[in-house]
Amino acid sequence: MDLLYRSTRDSGVQVTASQAILKGLSADGGLFVPNTIPELDVSLDELAQMSYQETAYAVMSRFLTDFTEEELKGCIEKAYDEKFDLPEIAPLVKAGGAYYLELFHGATIAFKDMALSILPHLMTVSARKNQVKNEIVILTATSGDTGKAALAGFADVPGTRIVVFYPKNGVSPIQEKQMVTQKGDNVKVIGIRGNFDDAQSGVKAIFGDQELEREMAQAGFQFSSANSINIGRLVPQIVYYVYAYAKLYAAGEIEKNEKINIVVPTGNFGNILAAYYAKQMGLPVGRLICASNENKVLFDFFQTGSYDRNRDFILTSSPSMDILISSNLERLIYRIAGEDDRADAAFMKNLAEKGVYEITPAMREKLGDFYGNFATEQETAQTIQSLYDRTGYVIDPHTAVASCVYEKYKADTGDKAKAVIASTASPYKFTGSVMRAIGQNCDGKDDFQLADELSALSGTEIPRAVEEIRTAPVLHDTVVEISEMKEAVKAFLGI
Ligand SMILES: *Cc1c(COP(=O)(O)O)cnc(C)c1O
Repeated sequence: MDLLYRSTRDSGVQVTASQAILKGLSADGGLFVPNTIPELDVSLDELAQMSYQETAYAVMSRFLTDFTEEELKGCIEKAYDEKFDLPEIAPLVKAGGAYYLELFHGATIAFKDMALSILPHLMTVSARKNQVKNEIVILTATSGDTGKAALAGFADVPGTRIVVFYPKNGVSPIQEKQMVTQKGDNVKVIGIRGNFDDAQSGVKAIFGDQELEREMAQAGFQFSSANSINIGRLVPQIVYYVYAYAKLYAAGEIEKNEKINIVVPTGNFGNILAAYYAKQMGLPVGRLICASNENKVLFDFFQTGSYDRNRDFILTSSPSMDILISSNLERLIYRIAGEDDRADAAFMKNLAEKGVYEITPAMREKLGDFYGNFATEQETAQTIQSLYDRTGYVIDPHTAVASCVYEKYKADTGDKAKAVIASTASPYKFTGSVMRAIGQNCDGKDDFQLADELSALSGTEIPRAVEEIRTAPVLHDTVVEISEMKEAVKAFLGI
């Protein structure tokens, strides 16, 4: 029997895994959740011997039950290959009393690669399984990181094309360089004269344009979305928590079935939700520690039971966590509401209309798996410095938020369980913030100079992703007005 997925806003909607991956979001606006969380019915001793790819199969096959073994293994092999700069794919580094799970060894040196390197393959297999003959066109608006990871994932994947819009003056020079140098016959990168919200609204309008949808279908195209609510991104993220646990056990760092805590620097709530699913599968996990930066909506939510996005948006040194609406939280809300689709829909309606909702005391009682806290900008920088001073290990600002919150957690609770901290970006992606935090003078130096200095200081190699863009030619120089976005997409598709 296939594991089916249903919408958080209408339990009557039931689809297979491959259909959920193709759709992304349910038509009622809900997110797809598995009807049950499958059990991890592989012994720890077996897991301890497995490669990353084997672990990926053991975990993902439990969720994507309408994929054949051959299909799923094919996707895994194409995703987790030499694009990653280490054969372990996601290594663990012990430093300062915690285990850092480095999720940044992929093509764009941030954790989004873990899921976006496999999503395109899951999507093309899903299309084939559902007799979709159209070419899949991925449309994305980005404030920097997701766009590049999606480009790298979809580049030259047969049966797909990808168009990424970014605010011409709204991303960092390195981020822009990463995108405009992207190779691949099926990719298009377009700057817009507007901000990220304009790009996002423009993309939403194109998605909702029914006339365009008809024209596309006639020409053999259909849109899909690669954003983080797709279960094709969520499921691959469960893998590395299982892998990390098994590797700690294999290395003799933990006893069999010893409970560990997991600390996650959180934005859209996708990564930490994957850890929660790993726990639900039976992985021995104690607390899930949710770390926020100064945009601490989630901390306030765990404190008060009220989710309130009505506040100023703060730009921080951990930009991928500058988020006021954590979309994936809806899956947790649905669960703690007793899988009540109407209750969930009502909360989300309040969020859309008033920017706030408040959960019931009974729901709050079901949040015991989680602990939330946040780090200020100053605390984040101090954390980078103090870990570097004590151990020589350099972490990026996102990871530092998690590391800081982990210290607060220990002080608050006295819990001495071992912890895995999700390390979500390479320090080479945020060299300016990192070098300033460890007391270096950055005046007048560009990101490449800083990368050289960071390499010398930390004794680590400059990642290929940075080396490559130093000299790579610019391949995309299209810049359009907001009103021209649709035409730009049509021009790229030749319709
Ligand atoms: C996206 C991102 C996060 C936040 O992850 P969510 O799944 O959105 O909570 C944290 N750190 C980095 C570097 C990211 O790119």
